Amino acid sequence: MAKSLDPTDWPAFRALGHRLLDEIMDYMEQARERPAWRPLPEATRGALRESLPMDPQGEERACAAFMEHVLPYPQGSTHPRFWGWVQGSGTPLGMLADMMASGMNPMLAGFQQAPAVVEKQVLAWLAELMAFPDDASGVLCSSGTMANFLGLAVAMREWAGSGRVYCSDETHGWMRKAAALLRLDVRRIPVDREFRISLPALRAALEEDRAAGIVPVCVVANAGTVNTGAIDPLEELGLLCASQGLWLHVDGAFGALAHLSPALRPLLEGLPRADSLAFDLHKWFSAPIDCACLLTRHAARHRATFASTPSYMAPTDRGVLAGGVPFADLGIDLTRDFKALKVWLSLKAYGVRHHAAVIEQNVKDAQCFAAQIGARGDFELLAPAPLNIVCFRYAPARLPPARLDAVNQELLLRLQESGVAVLSSTILRGQFALRMANVNHRTRPEDFDMLLATLLELGAVLS
Ligand SMILES: *Cc1c(COP(=O)(O)O)cnc(C)c1O
Repeated sequence: MAKSLDPTDWPAFRALGHRLLDEIMDYMEQARERPAWRPLPEATRGALRESLPMDPQGEERACAAFMEHVLPYPQGSTHPRFWGWVQGSGTPLGMLADMMASGMNPMLAGFQQAPAVVEKQVLAWLAELMAFPDDASGVLCSSGTMANFLGLAVAMREWAGSGRVYCSDETHGWMRKAAALLRLDVRRIPVDREFRISLPALRAALEEDRAAGIVPVCVVANAGTVNTGAIDPLEELGLLCASQGLWLHVDGAFGALAHLSPALRPLLEGLPRADSLAFDLHKWFSAPIDCACLLTRHAARHRATFASTPSYMAPTDRGVLAGGVPFADLGIDLTRDFKALKVWLSLKAYGVRHHAAVIEQNVKDAQCFAAQIGARGDFELLAPAPLNIVCFRYAPARLPPARLDAVNQELLLRLQESGVAVLSSTILRGQFALRMANVNHRTRPEDFDMLLATLLELGAVLS
């Protein structure tokens, strides 16, 4: 028989598929019943260490191994009490979208095919949501890191090895990678008391650099810093950049999504002034990992940065290649997956308004939690909570200040190991902070009550 990777027994395979679909639906529906996280048992590690399978084990057995050893041990982001780092929780519809996309398996460099039209539509919708002009250019990519990288590549296109980029001390770690790969000369600017870039310090740095013969080219602003959710003064930065001929790139990895909500939009005033904007769809839009977007108002420059259409892909008037490969010319990847489908389906199924309502709920719950923490004597807020991130620590009066870092570090790990909830941590002005980042559409207000009760219980043992 001719060799193929299709099932040899379609009816049996179909039954396996239906079973897996039921299992994963149960898994999502019952997320609340599992621990938020549990450590990987040694036996599981052992079971996953296996010599290279040269001979077939069969689809049934291979999938059974996944069900037994992999599925029960996630990192936790689908759980209603997962607030560690900034990770979206995914959606059942998004899961189906990824499955359908994989089944269809289109190659999304471009081509004359419906998925390419869907991606164009999604990009137009995203540009509209961010109040970018109709002729803005955009591309979907894997991550916020990649979207920011692409944005900086466009911004610094003619400046390889010269020209300077400015960003605040609170800018995310992607900047270090982009600086290394794009050979950027980056100057870090201190932040104000609210962890926003200091405008006076930025102005002074620009002046000082110009006087020294350095050419300022680009300012990177944060629409929601990863540490505290601080939003740089985008309106002022937009005006400053326009008046000095500088490129404004905004990292809005999660925060830019607040633009979907008319109630929250004023916090992002000035966002549409960005020359380029990077944001994730797998964080506050809850698309399954991965999906992110770069938008820029400089379409020709965007294309010129990445276009390199080889002769075997030169566009034709008719046939499969009509329309060329526009997406491959706007980023790094040539072969691209159909990420657009999960965004398209979610926008159609739930509408902008429902997505915005989820984002508003996350902000409201986070602010409520921050207010509760701030009002208590045994906890302390370590930063303002302007959006959906709360940085705080357990600090009852009986604990000497010298022990606070160690106690909170231990409290964090015990909370994670309890399986009740997942928080992460950061260091703010030299102090260890517990960090609650809420981009979770499954969280209910009572989940925060449970978090607080568990922290108090665990804290009492430690202090
Ligand atoms: C998460 C995040 C990034 C990086 O995005 P990834 O999708 O994780 O690569 C960049 N900036 C900020 C502010 C983030 O929160």
